[in-house]
Amino acid sequence: MKDVADRAEAVRSRIQAAADRAGRDPEAVRLVAVTKGHTEDAAQAAIAAGLEDLGENRVADLAERAAAFPAARWHMIGRLQTNKVRLLPVRLAAIHSVDRPSLVDRLARVEWEGPPPQLYVQVNVAGETQKGGVRPDQLDELLALLGDRGLPVSGLMTVAPAVVHPEEVRPVFAELAGLAAERGVSELSMGMSDDFEVAVEEGSTLVRVGRAIFSAPPLSEAGRLDFPRH
Ligand SMILES: *Cc1c(COP(=O)(O)O)cnc(C)c1O
Repeated sequence: MKDVADRAEAVRSRIQAAADRAGRDPEAVRLVAVTKGHTEDAAQAAIAAGLEDLGENRVADLAERAAAFPAARWHMIGRLQTNKVRLLPVRLAAIHSVDRPSLVDRLARVEWEGPPPQLYVQVNVAGETQKGGVRPDQLDELLALLGDRGLPVSGLMTVAPAVVHPEEVRPVFAELAGLAAERGVSELSMGMSDDFEVAVEEGSTLVRVGRAIFSAPPLSEAGRLDFPRH
């Protein structure tokens, strides 16, 4: 699993370079290794490589992995059904997918062990119907409800559309950054394997990266290994 350590290091240096280009402090960007669909050995290798934050997008997988690796900081990044909230691990670093009033009401009733998870409101910036997240015009209402329920908001989160070139999603990240800045929200959970450098340039404070750490690079059409650009 040395390859996991090598790829994690490559992702870290790409984050650093992107932060440098934007005149940002690379230390202000947290790397969450998304282990979904990858083996328990891969999760172990990520921890051995010094990655402290790990993410899963399904509650059952999250609960299983968090029980197997209780020392890691676990992040729930996927769509969260209210009836699954009771299955969340009692210690959780963050929930990135707070996106509707019923979920806020349910989360307000959870008794966490130790500090409660940081909450990110997921915003569906691009308006893709199949994706979770509040519409930008519903954001203030949800933030107000979180305030009413005594739940502090750490940041906003978005999942950008899949595109051919990562530059195409720069406006999506810029819009999320603008929505956060207008409301005095400081953290931005944005950027995945294909677009984290653009996200960091646009102010991301937390990138959620799976394949770039855990999958071998795809073969290009010429049959050569297509290593990520640095
Ligand atoms: C799977 C997933 C990621 C990581 O995606 P990769 O393309 O593997 O980097 C990030 N965020 C969410 C919400 C995901 O579901």
